Amino acid sequence: MTEQEIKPLCDFDREHLWHPYTSTIDPLPVYLVKSAHGAEIELADGTVLIDGMSSWWCVIHGYNNPRLNSAAVAQMQDMSHVMFGGMTHLPAIELGKLLLSMAPPQMHNIFYADSGSVAVEVAMKMAVQAAISRSGDHKRTDFLTIRRGYHGDTWNAMSVCDPVTGMHGAFGPALPVRFFVSEPRTPFDAPWDPADFDQMRQAIEEHASTLAAVILEPVVQGAGGMRFYHPQYLRELRKLCDAYGIYLIFDEIATGFWRTGRCFALEHAGVVPDIMTVGKALTGGYMTSAAVLTTAEVADTISRGEAGVMMHGPTFMANPLACAVAVESLKLLTEQDMPRVIGHINSIIAEELAPVASLASVADVRTLGAIGVVEMKDPVDVGAFQRRCVEEGVWIRPFGRNVYIMPPYVINDAQLRKLCKALVKLVSEL
Ligand code: PMP
Repeated sequence: MTEQEIKPLCDFDREHLWHPYTSTIDPLPVYLVKSAHGAEIELADGTVLIDGMSSWWCVIHGYNNPRLNSAAVAQMQDMSHVMFGGMTHLPAIELGKLLLSMAPPQMHNIFYADSGSVAVEVAMKMAVQAAISRSGDHKRTDFLTIRRGYHGDTWNAMSVCDPVTGMHGAFGPALPVRFFVSEPRTPFDAPWDPADFDQMRQAIEEHASTLAAVILEPVVQGAGGMRFYHPQYLRELRKLCDAYGIYLIFDEIATGFWRTGRCFALEHAGVVPDIMTVGKALTGGYMTSAAVLTTAEVADTISRGEAGVMMHGPTFMANPLACAVAVESLKLLTEQDMPRVIGHINSIIAEELAPVASLASVADVRTLGAIGVVEMKDPVDVGAFQRRCVEEGVWIRPFGRNVYIMPPYVINDAQLRKLCKALVKLVSEL
């Protein structure tokens, strides 16, 4: 498209369309996308960008993946949607079987939700219903979490996001008040410091009688800080939650499906939660869908409770189109040697990003699985940084002080090295 064709479209967008976390008065620039294939996104003016974001963790098999395309088309010809109330279908059943084969064996019941945030809402509702039913105590409705977390944008999900980097500032007392403790400090591969768990232990001991659950992202804190913490934290947490009869919820929406080098991040710790949420990469990034997995104990405790049922049922629950694409996405994962695929991506990211560690402007460089993070000492100007990304032919969207990449798993070596080299160059300019 020519500049004359693109401009009025972008003007309409700027005037009328809200983008994520964006002002209508002074919006950040947006780029018109024409199409995307594999690990490349083509803009309307013909510029080709190597994708470093997997469209926020989800497009793991690349854009326009032939297998996922065929799954979507085939399913559409049977039915795109049918209600899940009183009906079921093969895509939902097949997806359930695949999810249970990948998740820890204790997971037994699945609730399909329509987005990550909704899955977090469902997980929190499950915990409250089960906690009240199990204890007979209606005060068991509260949640405890760690700072620097991120769990989504709906009301309850927001309430357990980091109070500073999350959305608490804008909503203040309108949000339910939760208990927060400091984020774990021991890095993923450093020697474990037992004092790291002290705050969490104190908080659980103090508030146990009102807590339904502890909720957190296992090992990797994503959108709240891009931090990788020590798996021992989760082992200590599991022990204490068991001792006090508090449910444990792991939000695997960003970390699930091999992003951290394991199918689920919980595997780094060998810890099984009572409830876990998955989303994002579930459908290979084709459309929104998510799931909440839980144990038979939680599910049956809810079913024996006052309501007798799980009180949630969205219109698009278990959407067949999303389930069919998710089935194909999970099959693609099970057919590949994923530890090798992710290990290879990690080795290139680690090698290419290492040089920036010595820059005075850089606070830290870290990698885990197919994630690479350069943490700057000062916040990064997103608009200016992205303008330079487009000039360099890559797509990276920093937040706060973090410039990070989590490319599609199909990225080839040349693309990945180009992406990393551009990141190094742009970071060096800051
Ligand atoms: N939990 C985590 C850990 C996430 O990273 C996100 C999305 N960034 C969500 C929940 C919310 O998912 P969604 O945007 O699909 O509502």
